[in-house]
Amino acid sequence: MNIHEYQAKEILKKYGVTIQNGLVATTPDEAVEAAKQMQAQSGQSWVVLKSQIHAGGRGKGSIVGSEQRGVALAKNLDQAKEIATNILGNTLVTIQTGPKGKLVSKILVAEDVYYPGASEPKEFYMSVLMDRQTSQNVIIYTTEGGMDIEHVAEHTPEKIHKEWIDPLTGLTGFQARKIAYNLGLEGQANKEMVKFVMALYTAYVNTDSDMFEINPVLKTSDDRILAVDAKVSLDENALFRHKDLELLRDESEEDPTEVEAKKSNLNYVKLDGNVGCMVNGAGLAMATMDIIKLSGGEPANFLDVGGTANAQTVEAGFRIILSDPNVKAILINVFGGIVRCDRVAQGVVDAYNNIGNIPVPIIVRLQGTNAEEGKKLIDDSGLKVFSAIELKEAAALVKQVLI
Ligand code: GDP
Ligand code: MN
Repeated sequence: MNIHEYQAKEILKKYGVTIQNGLVATTPDEAVEAAKQMQAQSGQSWVVLKSQIHAGGRGKGSIVGSEQRGVALAKNLDQAKEIATNILGNTLVTIQTGPKGKLVSKILVAEDVYYPGASEPKEFYMSVLMDRQTSQNVIIYTTEGGMDIEHVAEHTPEKIHKEWIDPLTGLTGFQARKIAYNLGLEGQANKEMVKFVMALYTAYVNTDSDMFEINPVLKTSDDRILAVDAKVSLDENALFRHKDLELLRDESEEDPTEVEAKKSNLNYVKLDGNVGCMVNGAGLAMATMDIIKLSGGEPANFLDVGGTANAQTVEAGFRIILSDPNVKAILINVFGGIVRCDRVAQGVVDAYNNIGNIPVPIIVRLQGTNAEEGKKLIDDSGLKVFSAIELKEAAALVKQVLI
């Protein structure tokens, strides 16, 4: 689950990771109030206004129909108000949002941390994530922060360092010092970076996160180390242990059908194809998507209805799949192990009758316990539903209805 920058920074702060301070605002007037407070706190008149959306590239992205960037500096309160007015309630398009962009309804008003001083501010990149190859967490970091990390990885991969962490020992002081050293830091800044990395890693582990990406990590002109940006992705499967983090979910940033599916306890992921599918079991769902492709279709979704394919779940599944206008056919592929095929078939018939007129052909393939009875139920229902027992038959039917 992704969260907003301002929420991610709250978490980091709680774990003692130093951050660029800020306050979130939803109206231009609130933004001005927040800016006043930031000015008082930092002693600087400049503030930075940052659009809060679940996508990066905001600094280079722009508000539709204007020159306004998604992250912008204001020299004074008047400018802060103007920028907030330009951004709030409007759509921001960045390299990560796609051409449709995202509506900005919150803005983070942050202290300007790039002030001049004894040395130049310097931007680094740091992320923590799970490396599935080694089954260890890894900290990825480089001195080339601020800009597009993909560009650095492609053109100067030798500048990207990785530090793998043994799950038994956790991140050691030695490793944290090595990271600070590789980032070229000395004296106070080096010490601050060691603390920063240790706190960041603890935050990552204790929140059961999938990914932390801090770009940029800033060394200020007076040798403080700050998280200026924060992208945090929490592990959905561990959220049950973090009721407080679950509250950070912003449904307006998520696909509405996926939100709907979650409410019905269905595992649904929307895709771009034309054949909707409803399957019990994730492995079978993957295989079904392959079958759809082999039959010349493209899967419109991944949908695992889980162990109980009853009339209720089938109906919820139908409604979710049918809300996608690209769907030209639906393939239901259920293996009757504990759940009997005739019960699933009855569920399909009941759900169909409840919904009424379903405008696309439905192919039901039931295999396993009471498969024959299930097929008979479907065939006798008089509904526009095709039944199959073998996967090959189902695939042929998909091909047939798509023509
Ligand atoms: P992103 O573009 O979505 O990754 O958003 P960031 O939070 O990384 O902000 C984009 C850029 O804004 C950063 O790389 C910084 O260069 C710049 N920026 C952020 N905060 C400040 C600030 O306090 N002062 C100045 N001058 N620039 C800032
Ligand atoms: Mn960034």
